[in-house]
Amino acid sequence: MDILTGLMIWAAEAITLAVLLWSRWFAERKNYCLTWSCGFALHGLGVALVAARGHIPDFMSIELANAIILAGVGGWIAGLLQFDGRRVEGYVAVPALIWIAGMFLTPVRETFAYRVALANMASATGYLIISGLLLKHAGTSRSTRQILAALIGAQAVCSFLVAGSTLLAQYTSFQTAHVAGWLFVPTAICFMASVMFAGKLLAERTEQKLKILAKTDALTGVLNRRGLIDEFHALRAHVDPSKPIIAFLQFDLDFFKQINDKFGHQAGDAVLVAFAEIGQTSLRGRGSFGRMGGEEFASILRVKDMVEAASIAEAVRLTIKRQTVLIGEHELKGTVSAGIALAVAETANLDLLLSAADRALYTAKNCGRDRSAIADGADISIVPSADRRGEAEEPGDLRVSQQVVALRRIAAIGQPSAVLP
Ligand code: GH3
Ligand code: MG
Ligand code: MG
Repeated sequence: MDILTGLMIWAAEAITLAVLLWSRWFAERKNYCLTWSCGFALHGLGVALVAARGHIPDFMSIELANAIILAGVGGWIAGLLQFDGRRVEGYVAVPALIWIAGMFLTPVRETFAYRVALANMASATGYLIISGLLLKHAGTSRSTRQILAALIGAQAVCSFLVAGSTLLAQYTSFQTAHVAGWLFVPTAICFMASVMFAGKLLAERTEQKLKILAKTDALTGVLNRRGLIDEFHALRAHVDPSKPIIAFLQFDLDFFKQINDKFGHQAGDAVLVAFAEIGQTSLRGRGSFGRMGGEEFASILRVKDMVEAASIAEAVRLTIKRQTVLIGEHELKGTVSAGIALAVAETANLDLLLSAADRALYTAKNCGRDRSAIADGADISIVPSADRRGEAEEPGDLRVSQQVVALRRIAAIGQPSAVLP
């Protein structure tokens, strides 16, 4: 293999990849695409300068060319850090710095074999850093990252072998460096395979984002109906003997239409966003929260019993009631009604849960809104609540105990296993 021809092909491939990544950056504005594009552009330019040995000044073809190639490797490392959502650290410059430091040593600068060995060891260092980062921050796409790390690790091994063979044989030019020439073949194969797997990594990232997007409500950023349904299936499959019940809590903003009519649709949207934030925060760590559509929200979670489900729904309702949403110069206060349905996790049926919660919600609305109702088989009961028991005169502690007493009364309505079909 004519190593100079190989270098030209390599340079052309790197520049092509730089252009492809640049066009992807242009479309998506993802920083890592631009950084990788710059990495490949530098790498390709540097390799082209090496291939132009004899036709351009030696300084450009040796010192500058290798520094540019290795800066390109640094670009790949920086792009990977950005891809993983990490800060770009100073160590991305290590491969280029190894080369620049070596150029201050006269024997290294003036001996072909030493220069080749140094450039390859610097590249290998960069490849090992990339492999390490791929393995360290695996997260999702684990198997693709592992294969990519192995392929880039193989390139590091090839670079070390080129360095070792060049030092041992003390080659004096590319034309005589036969072992290096042959090692070029596996290096090039691994390089192309790495590019393919890096492409797969990008595709998997896009797929993952689309999946999340498909489950997210565009206005409020919480789960949408589909996301909540997925959560139901995940909760059903999850085994947790300490929380044998699946609770479905449906929340509907009271008189929401009036907010739209009085303050406009945009103000209504802002109220929906505010409610979503409150609901999400109130339920964090307990269960999932999402928007079923319109001004209806829901939470799905595993609970110990009916008392726990009712107390969580009441906690959300009371938090909303106390909150003020600022819309322009208007301070809005709103209330919600909640419908609660429960089912034993192993046998839970989503349609039955939804319709039971709907019936409970309808009852809560009919009984005056701003309250929670719970479906227990065919019966619907209004959850006795602290804020409707003349609590204004009561000290805080007593209010809590009243709530506990009220929830105990709910518990007496029925045992979880007897709830809902
Ligand atoms: P109730 O207490 O009986 O629930 O009364 P309501 O006014 O809240 O309920 P109704 O079903 O009569 O009205 C719901 C309103 O929600 C009507 C619709 O215009 C509004 N709405 C639905 N989706 C959106 C949305 O995305 N943004 C805004 N701003 N309003 C929405
Ligand atoms: Mg509604
Ligand atoms: Mg409503």
